[in-house]
Amino acid sequence: MAYKRILLKLSGEALMGDRQHGIDPKRLAEYAEEIKTIVNQGIEVAIVIGGGNIFRGVAGASNGIDRVQGDYMGMLATAINGLALQSAIEAAGIKTRLLTAIKMEQVAEPFIKRRAVRHLEKGRVVIFGCGTGNPYFTTDTAAVLRAIEIGAEVILKGTRVDGIYNVDPEKHEDAIKFDTITYKDVMNKGLKIMDMTAFALSQENNLPIIVFDMNTQGNLEKVIAGKNIGTLVDK
Ligand code: UDP
Repeated sequence: MAYKRILLKLSGEALMGDRQHGIDPKRLAEYAEEIKTIVNQGIEVAIVIGGGNIFRGVAGASNGIDRVQGDYMGMLATAINGLALQSAIEAAGIKTRLLTAIKMEQVAEPFIKRRAVRHLEKGRVVIFGCGTGNPYFTTDTAAVLRAIEIGAEVILKGTRVDGIYNVDPEKHEDAIKFDTITYKDVMNKGLKIMDMTAFALSQENNLPIIVFDMNTQGNLEKVIAGKNIGTLVDK
């Protein structure tokens, strides 16, 4: 195995499957199976889940909702997704814990770094909810932050595209995919993988990022095995 402890970032939108909104139980179950496979190989798995399938603060603000209120709504949305993901992973027979950056003690544990690490050591999948707990941030930034805190070796950003391209592959047929790319080249070429805050934090801390297609069965396992799928961003 190429990695021992990883942080998987899943966007809220990924949970929609073919829907326009909300959560697709089939997609959730598929993800749970993918995650189960790598947990059974002894990989310590932490997950940061987004909330874009339910609510985004920026979108709320353009419809008259106060930005900070909206961001808290977005953070609560990630907790909803976290609960759904927890349920699906446990249904697949894997123990999990949901740790949130905003205290909600009836439904989740508060985020405490040492506790998160202990859960991982015991083989539990740790799901981080509520992003960073602060408005004006994203769950990508939360993913990088938590990955650094728990000492994950890599961030796996599961998306619906199979890596980073020089131009948008959904708009340009001749788009070229990078197998590996440096942080510097990502900046120079103006490629968008994560927002600037998240990206700067990962660069500063030399945390590699792998962007890969999470919707193809078996891909997560391949990434863990060190196979060259997706795009690796490194120094
Ligand atoms: N959010 C926030 N602080 C955080 C993480 C998230 O305020 O640390 C809010 C923000 O409004 C964001 C929403 O939660 O739009 C959902 O998160 P995100 O957009 O990152 O989800 P994704 O795009 O991954 O589904």
